[in-house]
Amino acid sequence: MRDVNHRVSKEIVKFAIKNGVSTIGLEDLTGIRESTISKIPKKNRYNYSSWAFRQLQSFIEYKAREDPAYTSQTCNRCNHISKNNRSRLNFKCGICGYENNADLNGAMNIEHRTRDFRYTLESHGCLSATQTNA
Ligand SMILES: [Zn+2]
Repeated sequence: MRDVNHRVSKEIVKFAIKNGVSTIGLEDLTGIRESTISKIPKKNRYNYSSWAFRQLQSFIEYKAREDPAYTSQTCNRCNHISKNNRSRLNFKCGICGYENNADLNGAMNIEHRTRDFRYTLESHGCLSATQTNA
């Protein structure tokens, strides 16, 4: 389960970055896999599946926070993520061919995400006019 959660959380965070998603919402679907759940003794079912869900949630949070690793691997132009995009100080996208200094590309990604996040907060009324002008 730990291995599955690692892979699933990695893909979720990768998908979110690639698609410019600034907020990841999780719904607890504990108990949805009845065929798997039925193999677990009844008294352990809730604990087992909710534990797995909490682990997935914490992995997603952790991977979303360690995002700078992806920041340096993400193309600032097309959002393609690959380790191969970066070679030491140079960034070159394997999909669109965009080239730049690797740190500059990473910094531009952080700037875009900060703007997106700020826009999301503003559009939900979480930042007041005073704060947005600061
Ligand atoms: Zn690209």
